[in-house]
Amino acid sequence: MSLLPDGSEQGLRGHAEERGVRARIGMAPPAGEIDRAAPYKRIATEEAWTFPALVKAQTDYLASGSVDDASLGMAGMFAGMPRLQAMLQDLDATRLAHMDEYGIDRQLLLLTAPGVQVVRPGEGTALAREANDIAADACHRHPDRFSALAAFDPRDVAGSVREIGRAMGELKLNGAVLNSHFQGHYLDEAAYWPILEALEAHDAALYIHPTAPFNAPHYQARGFYGALAGFPHDVWVHTMGLIFSGAFDRFPKLRLVIGHLGEGMPTQIYRFDWMQYNADGVAGLRGGQPAVTLKHPVSHYFRNNIWITTSGVAWEPAIKFCMEQMGADRVLYAMDYPYQQSSDEVAVYDRMDLSAEHKAMLMHRNAEHVFRLPRA
Ligand code: MN
Repeated sequence: MSLLPDGSEQGLRGHAEERGVRARIGMAPPAGEIDRAAPYKRIATEEAWTFPALVKAQTDYLASGSVDDASLGMAGMFAGMPRLQAMLQDLDATRLAHMDEYGIDRQLLLLTAPGVQVVRPGEGTALAREANDIAADACHRHPDRFSALAAFDPRDVAGSVREIGRAMGELKLNGAVLNSHFQGHYLDEAAYWPILEALEAHDAALYIHPTAPFNAPHYQARGFYGALAGFPHDVWVHTMGLIFSGAFDRFPKLRLVIGHLGEGMPTQIYRFDWMQYNADGVAGLRGGQPAVTLKHPVSHYFRNNIWITTSGVAWEPAIKFCMEQMGADRVLYAMDYPYQQSSDEVAVYDRMDLSAEHKAMLMHRNAEHVFRLPRA
């Protein structure tokens, strides 16, 4: 799907259109057939959804003009795209038909960016509860097809801790999702650490999904606030922040999942170790935090606390590099429905030159482990 400046929905569903785009860029896959008898399941791990009350809360707040938040603006743009909303809001026949078309056995449902963290302060936790109830109902209706991550509003720390506990306990959801920064704040700030503690205590992996960056004008002026720069940059800051704040030393069992092939970070692990001294042991960061000296090189956290998914990057050499450098157990398949959907991309995974064991790990087994899903 193209997010065009005029908010149009070009490319949202047209395979022919998308094939034309890919032919022009040369790198991406030629048309291919999905293997309908593949010896593995396909679990897509970054699949988006939303619901009407959240869209209304977002658009009402945006229309009030009382806040300047590019992420909220993005929600307003999505709200004005009826074909996209129809797919995001369906958790039954339409979604299942698309999954069947693409050969997807199970979707992991993530409340789409920007989620509940951009609504009026005080409304987010109630909307997170509603989201998690709706997602859990969908999982109960279609237990072989859907699993879901819990939404929470990090601005309400106590409410988030309670909701993560309820979602992982009573609702039996499979982890939690945060759409990166919230009005320029990040979970590496000490005030939010009770949320990290709750995630670790409930064995809930945290998926940090992108949203539009907080200081967006220089991105917006160039058309880059989304996948071309703003999205990956913001998740990069969030991930680095968690590493250098010492969060993974304090909560060593905390599991972090990053989409879009780790937002590009895995190719830089070498340099992160080399330049670690820039921020390691430095006093006064994050508004005056005492110096934090990490217990490990940065690479350690990428190989022990972080998993990545392939959403939007069906690119064999890059996926193989990440499997080699982070471990074949740390890379999970994702599609990014409905924003980027393509049977040709599914066919690329089917043809990928990997051992049968690594293919099964990529397509379903790693997801079953990280998100505590039922085993195939
Ligand atoms: Mn996504």
